[in-house]
This record gives sequence, structure tokens and C-alpha cells, in this order.
Amino acid sequence: MFEYAPAPESRDVVDIKSSYGLFIDGEFVEGSGKPFKTIDPATEEKLAEIASATSDDVDRAVQSARKAFGVWSQLPGSERAKYLFRIARLIQERARELAVLESIDNGKPIRESRDVDLPLVAAHFFYYAGWADKLKYAGYGDARPLGVAGQVIPWNFPLLMLAWKIAPALACGNTVVLKPAETTPLTALAFAEICQQADLPPGVVNIVTGAGQTGAAVVAHPDVNKVAFTGSTEVGRIIARTVAGTDKKLTLELGGKAANIVFDDAAIDQAVEGIVNGIFFNQGHVCCAGSRLLVQESVYDVVLESLKRRVSTLRVGDPLDKNTDIGAINSAEQLAKIRELSDAGEAEGAARWSPACELPAKGFWFAPTLFTEVAQSHRIAREEIFGPVLSVLTFRTPAEAVEKANNTPYGLSAGVWTEKGSRILWMADRLRAGVVWANTFNKFDPTSPFGGYKESGYGREGGLRGLEAYLDV
Ligand code: NAD
Repeated sequence: MFEYAPAPESRDVVDIKSSYGLFIDGEFVEGSGKPFKTIDPATEEKLAEIASATSDDVDRAVQSARKAFGVWSQLPGSERAKYLFRIARLIQERARELAVLESIDNGKPIRESRDVDLPLVAAHFFYYAGWADKLKYAGYGDARPLGVAGQVIPWNFPLLMLAWKIAPALACGNTVVLKPAETTPLTALAFAEICQQADLPPGVVNIVTGAGQTGAAVVAHPDVNKVAFTGSTEVGRIIARTVAGTDKKLTLELGGKAANIVFDDAAIDQAVEGIVNGIFFNQGHVCCAGSRLLVQESVYDVVLESLKRRVSTLRVGDPLDKNTDIGAINSAEQLAKIRELSDAGEAEGAARWSPACELPAKGFWFAPTLFTEVAQSHRIAREEIFGPVLSVLTFRTPAEAVEKANNTPYGLSAGVWTEKGSRILWMADRLRAGVVWANTFNKFDPTSPFGGYKESGYGREGGLRGLEAYLDV
């Protein structure tokens, strides 16, 4: 009989203070708003009090960024590169601590924060450090930085979303005011300490914590030249309206409802791993999650059987246990949303299945869930659930797969599983998605641009294209 042995990562590698201020002009300062608390979603215990930035505080941060822009944008690219390389190395040095902090504040399994988030965070700073002194070789010799970038990010990849936004902005010579999500501020504040350690000139990076109003104040500030947002399509629309009629540049990274498409000639075992990774990675809190599985009818039974067997082996529990596959849901609100949509799936007639799994008594948890007998009109097939819930549909022909995959207001990503190279290209040509993965899923790399079609937003982050979001070309 297999004995389960927990392998806990140590909490002692992090030193969480009882309260945190805002990071403005290179220093931690008090916020003028009412502080709020961030909690550990696996235990519901309070982690720290976090300062809340009012519009006056945001104004101070923007003024500091404006002043710093005068200096930062005039530095030779090779000097900016030195700071970015230094930040990248400090992230690597503090990677273990940052991974633990991310898992405690967000709920994600330590295996993911350690092996995916943190390596990618460092990689983004290394990658964009490399461009800082080579902009002219990339064809941007005459391009100018935009000025002060106001950046608002979500809670699903707190430090990685920060890296996606801050690294290219600084490489191009912009300065930054960033607002992290209210449920996951701790790694952004640790990043502020790293900016101090790296001797980054004051004001080049400012971190203002707070709820949606703080984000709205950043977006609306008249002296912000560029707005970059990742989050819900709903808030994306509000931001687009605020920015309309101003000369601010805008990039939006919004929701998704990706199709993961399995053809009958696919390597089924490999596809099943990809399906599991596609929807259960990061508890399904992923904008490009493969939340709609499209299986060719002829292999439906074999895929489903194999998938259920694999899902039954997933371990749900303590994010700091190195064996955990699925951690805690990030907040009570998100858990309520996942429950509501899953209940709607049942009420609309889909068949619900979860493996037997014991969930911890405290904290926010949701068992991995599959829905079969799903119709395209069901809410679970249309709306972004942002949780560990997979809707399974079928198709007969490649054309039908394309039609069903594209039958969504979103267009962020898609996956195709087939051994036929020509079919991959045929599908990729027709899928209305910013990213199409072939025989893999949820693969990220700083050299690859990422972004959506349709209601998934506009603009690209990452890679060479990601520089254009921060330059007047
Ligand atoms: P959200 O859009 O409400 O919040 C994202 C960020 O925007 C947070 O920092 C938030 O404080 C800020 N914000 C909220 N209102 C704002 C406003 N009016 N002006 C400026 N900033 C504002 O997303 P959420 O509450 O974190 O999650 C809600 C849903 O969004 C999720 O259930 C999911 O469907 C989607 N989501 C998508 C992504 C993605 O990567 N595409 C990430 C997180 C959430």
C-alpha cells in the first residue's frame, strides 16, 4: 500500500511583517486610506495589514515617477540593463523565500511557485535587461519611452504579472506606478525591497496597494502616459472607457475560455497530461486555462476514462506541501463564483464528476471537477470560471472543432493535440486565439509575445513585440 508522506516547505524562510506601507519614491511610507488585511487562503489566517493608497497617495507616486523619468529615460540603455540584471539576480537569490511567500499569499502549490513562477519572473528580467541596450538593433533606435506607466495586475500570478509589466517598461526607459491585487500584495512589496537592494533610483518603481479604487486612481491620473491592465473583462471595459479620449496608450490582458482540442490520432497519454495541466495548473486561476475540452467522438471514451483515472491521483491540500497538485482557491469571493457556476452547470443539465477527495476544514478549497454532457449554450461552456472545473464537449470533424472552439467571445489561447503536423497548421490558421499550443499547454517563455483576440483584450506582452507596448515607435 502506498504511504503518503507529506514534504512541507518551511515557513521559516519568510519574514512577514505585521504591517506594510506603500512604496513611493524609493521608501516605504504610510498610506492615507484605511489599511486592509491580506490572508492565507489555505487557513484564513491574517498575514499582515496592508496600506491603502488614496488618490492623493497615487498622485505622490505618479509625481515621483514623473521626476524619476527625467533621469531614467536619459540613462544609456547599458546602465538601465545593469539595474535590471541586478534585479534579476536578486530575484534568483531570494527565489526560495519569494516562492514560499507567493504560495502563502496566493494559495498556489509550492511546486508551481518554485518551478514555474519564480524561474519565469527572473527570466523576464534577464530577457528585458538584454534588450535595454539593444533597442536600436531591434529597429527601435528612434523610438522614445512613453513616460509614466500605470500598471494594474491580478492575483493569479502576482509576481509574474509584475515582471511581465515592470521589466519591459523599465528596459525601454519608462518609470512605473504599479498596483498589485488586494488579495496578493506581499510579493510586490518584497519586490519593492529588491528595488532598494538593487539601488534602483527612487521613483523608477512605485508600488501602491489598495482595492479597485486605487487602481482606478492610477488609471485616471492625468500624468500617467501608459496604462497596462491584466484582470477581468468587466474591469477592462471600465478602464478602456476611462482612457478613451485621453492620449494614454493602453494594453488590456483580459479573460479567456480556451478550447483544448484532442484529435483521435493524438498521443492520448500525453494529451491527458496536457488536459490536466491545462485546467488544474494554478487551481485553474489562469486566463488561458484550457477550460473547454473538445474531444473527437471516436476517442471520447478512452480519453474520459484515462482523464478520470489521472484526476483521481491529484492531491488537493496544503500549498506548502511539495506533493500538492492543487492548492487553495485565492479568496472566498472566487470560491463563491466557482460554486455558483458549477451549480449552474448541474442545473442546466450537465453531468458533474469529481474524484473522492477530502478537503481541509479551514480555508477555501474546491475539488477538481469535470462536466460532461455539456451543451455550448451552458454557462459553464461560455463563462470564465477561473477555477479547477473542466467542461467536456465533443466534435466529429476538424471544421466542427474550429467552429466550437471559436464559439466564444474570448480569444486568448487554444491547444491542439494531434500527430499530424499539417493539421496543427490548418487549425492554428483558423483558431481565433492569440496563442495556439500544439501537443502542449500553458507553456510560457519571455521571448514569446502573449495576448488575446476579441474580448480577451489587445496589445501583446512578452518578446520583442512586448517592447512596443512601452515605446512610441
Ligand atoms: P479584477 O479585474 O476585478 O481585478 C484585477 C485588478 O484590477 C485588481 O488589482 C483590482 O484591484 C483592480 N481593479 C478593480 N477594479 C478596478 C477599477 N475600476 N479600475 C482599476 N483597477 C481596478 O479581477 P479579480 O477580481 O481579480 O477577478 C475577477 C475575475 O477576473 C476573475 O474571476 C477572472 O474571471 C478574471 N481574471 C482574469 C485574469 C487574467 O489574467 N486574464 C486574472 C485575474 C482575474
